[in-house]
Amino acid sequence: MKIKIYRLLIKWLLKEMRRLKRKKATRVEARPTVPPEQFPQTFVIESFFLSELIPILTRGANEEMHFLTGPKLGPIRIVCRLAAPVPLNRQSPVFVSASAKSVASVLIPIIEQGAELHICAHSHPGGGAGATTPSGTDIGCLGKLQKNGSPAIGCIVTRDGYVRFFSILTNFHVMVLGSGVKEITKNVFHITR
Ligand SMILES: [Zn+2]
Repeated sequence: MKIKIYRLLIKWLLKEMRRLKRKKATRVEARPTVPPEQFPQTFVIESFFLSELIPILTRGANEEMHFLTGPKLGPIRIVCRLAAPVPLNRQSPVFVSASAKSVASVLIPIIEQGAELHICAHSHPGGGAGATTPSGTDIGCLGKLQKNGSPAIGCIVTRDGYVRFFSILTNFHVMVLGSGVKEITKNVFHITR
């Protein structure tokens, strides 16, 4: 009789162990497959801010460059203001160049303000969405910055209101909120106001 009880007890224990094992396996499978840190960096910009940025970047015949900054909430980056202008050592209609020292002089105050460098924006001559295509220099410069760990992306604008956002190494998403904006293709917009 005693043996029969032990046998029943062992049988029940084994059954219970199998049930718990199954439960654990289902719990593991139910976990999200994408960890939260892989959520793409999302840049949120007002169309009004872009409509004010374009004349600043295209005020003369030369290419102009500005760093855009603002707060960050996890992977959400609010692009809402211009950093101090970068002192440029060479400027022409198709090329902008700044020394590492002058770039650092602008980036240090951004970090001290508790903000983040979100976007490196510059202008291109010509018009239409095609004119916003990044040059070899643009790809090289942004690639170097991103290789050093910056999640900042690039932005190119034209005088006729086209704006392109681009990245070399990072996955990103741009949201342009407000009126007077039309999405042309992925990450290319036309500001119509
Ligand atoms: Zn360029």
